Amino acid sequence: MRYAGVVVDISGGKLDRVFTYRIPEHLQGQVTVGAQVKVPFGKGDRLVTAFVIEITEKSTYSDDELKEIREVSPRGVAVESHLIELAWWMKEEYGSSMLQALKTVLPVKKTVAPVRRRRICLQVPEEEARHFAAGLHPGRNAAQLRLLEALLADGYLPYETVTGRLHVGVSTIRSLGDKGVIRVEEETSYRNPVQIKGGEAGTVQLNDEQRRAAETVCGDDRRGVHGIYLLYGVTGSGKTEVYMELIDYMLRTHRQVIVLIPEIALTYQTVMRFYRRFGDKVSILHSRMSEGERYDQFVRAKKGEIQIMVGPRSALFTPFTHLGLIIIDEEQEASYKSELSPRYHAVGVAQKRASMTGASVVLGSATPSLDSFYRCQDGRYKLLKLSRRAVKEARLPSVEIVDLKEELVKGNKSIISLRLGELLDQRLKKGEQSILFLNRRGFSGFVSCRSCGEALKCPHCDVSLTLHRGGRLVCHYCGYETKLPRTCPSCGSRYIAGFGIGTQKVEAMVAEQFPNARILRMDADTTARKGGHEAILSAFADGKADILIGTQMIVKGHDFPRVTLVGVLAADLSLHSPSYDAAERTFQLLTQAAGRAGRDVLPGQVVIQTYSPEHYSIRMAAAQDYDGFYAEELPYRQMLHYPPVYAMMTLLISSRDEQAAERAARACGNLVERYIDRWKTDGAPLSFRENTGAAAREPELIGPCDAPVSRINDIYRKTLYIRHVDRRVLVTIKDGLESLTGWREEKAGVSVQYDISR
Ligand code: ADP
Ligand code: ZN
Ligand code: ZN
Repeated sequence: MRYAGVVVDISGGKLDRVFTYRIPEHLQGQVTVGAQVKVPFGKGDRLVTAFVIEITEKSTYSDDELKEIREVSPRGVAVESHLIELAWWMKEEYGSSMLQALKTVLPVKKTVAPVRRRRICLQVPEEEARHFAAGLHPGRNAAQLRLLEALLADGYLPYETVTGRLHVGVSTIRSLGDKGVIRVEEETSYRNPVQIKGGEAGTVQLNDEQRRAAETVCGDDRRGVHGIYLLYGVTGSGKTEVYMELIDYMLRTHRQVIVLIPEIALTYQTVMRFYRRFGDKVSILHSRMSEGERYDQFVRAKKGEIQIMVGPRSALFTPFTHLGLIIIDEEQEASYKSELSPRYHAVGVAQKRASMTGASVVLGSATPSLDSFYRCQDGRYKLLKLSRRAVKEARLPSVEIVDLKEELVKGNKSIISLRLGELLDQRLKKGEQSILFLNRRGFSGFVSCRSCGEALKCPHCDVSLTLHRGGRLVCHYCGYETKLPRTCPSCGSRYIAGFGIGTQKVEAMVAEQFPNARILRMDADTTARKGGHEAILSAFADGKADILIGTQMIVKGHDFPRVTLVGVLAADLSLHSPSYDAAERTFQLLTQAAGRAGRDVLPGQVVIQTYSPEHYSIRMAAAQDYDGFYAEELPYRQMLHYPPVYAMMTLLISSRDEQAAERAARACGNLVERYIDRWKTDGAPLSFRENTGAAAREPELIGPCDAPVSRINDIYRKTLYIRHVDRRVLVTIKDGLESLTGWREEKAGVSVQYDISR
């Protein structure tokens, strides 16, 4: 007789514990750690789903006190027990329920209904649709008219918008579909994205630096040392070739590899490089795949059908049995941090998973995060450097900074500075390509009243609405939409207008200034269409346009050999974010943008337009001087007690009831204050007695106060920040807070989320 410890799939703080069940005779052998099972639960013995997290021979309960597992779910792929262990660790380390942690690592989620995204679009030319609409009865065919008008305005609409906001019924959709006026499209995703055999790529001969980097990792591995390496090399220095060499080594030694690439850089180009070299040993994960398709990839990994998994953050949990290496490309990317509890960082989890299974971790970047670079200084990571671009002729671009304040003095009101305009003109004449980069989306920024100064805000969130094409105002937090009013809602003035500038406006201005230029625009709007992203990039790569205008999407990891000019239109936009790492983000973005110019043999030029030409993040980005930036930024973090020098925990307390949120925030604050007071009077707690220097000092508490966005979707948000040099101190405080805030808060509709820095 054996027993299984399970976590029940019912949300609720008080259920977040392990329950013991008997494994009946006929299920023995089928119930394994990580399996998904059905168990009777509660008074009525309702059948619920549960996850097996341990199996034991003995139990502290007698057999008749225990219920039996009823069935093993055939859809659940049992993960390795070390993934369950990893979930425990994530729960402890980042603060979440066990169920949340389990659901993060388990390949199958509770709801297996495929996420099918559908949209509705016109099947006939607009003219014809208008003609058809004109023949409809305004009363009897009101729904059809509503739908057609919306489609004529917007081109296409998500299915849910049509049935929801537009109140158009399924029968109306079907009827218009049958008449051939509209069609419903489904986002088809791919199971096996490319059919290609491996070994087609001619492998390059690694240069000295590349070989030394690869040899360091392989050499350590041969000696049984599994470290964390930071491969720091400018764009085009051949990091990917080093990854491939390492993967090759792992395959030769019969081990498996996980390659994380930010979703945004997971393009056809990147994926194809891996397929060409390793063929069907590779699989990819992609957010556009359905749950079922992703699940298939995990099953293939578990069965040993594939050896390499390429994907975004979630690929970390691929159930490989002989994992040898985890590669994290562009490790500085913000998308490696989870936005949901547990708010884990991919690097931290990779490190843990690797240490559990004897694997190595290689982080790669042209602009390493301060977090990683700092860890190289104190020896926690090993630094591997590639100092030159791999292709001989490819030189780093020359960069100029243009002060936008002086443009105004010169009487130039265009968003394009005189110098950038001149260079654009040259490119057009020579038939070379240019990229214009703007860190914004939408037609223009927020809308405000020029009489009373009031900005139009979302009624559910504490943020300004953004103006989109066709006079739509959209909340980027909750999706609320409304029409741009003719008059100011607070004073009635007619002078309301959009401020700031967006990609659409830039496109219009460039088109006016360069009427003969062929322009492509890439932002969240133009890529919403299926395959929009790839279509725009390949059109540009094929030379179908002279100028590509876009948001951050265009600066990540694309190779455009014919691009010789990159213009950054307003470099300081990202400097004004209220986060402590705004300078770091700005530096990274600018350096990446500059790296887009002159990737091939043609020399590249970059123009950075800014109102803050003297800011070090802009100066250092222009000089492509990472070390210089690091030298300026680190003392600032040190002085203000920010990461990476200090660890920081952010508590987010949210509730529909503002008072409840405030009470909970105050209770948390009081607990932390008591902890700090005790530390001050008695010295460091026993478990931290070995701490010396700054680490021996008590933690710091900031808050409670309103979160930077104090309300989203009618939910009030309070926050607390706690800092200490020793991250373990924060985890201990988190444990204390967790026992304070439990099911009582949940009942009162308050949720507490933890976010601990790396
Ligand atoms: P990164 O990943 O650092 O941006 P890549 O690995 O993509 O750099 O390399 C940039 C370009 O240089 C690619 O076209 C690649 O094929 C080429 N390359 C890299 N290493 C070498 C090498 N040792 N010899 C010749 N070409 C190389
Ligand atoms: Zn909103
Ligand atoms: Zn007003």
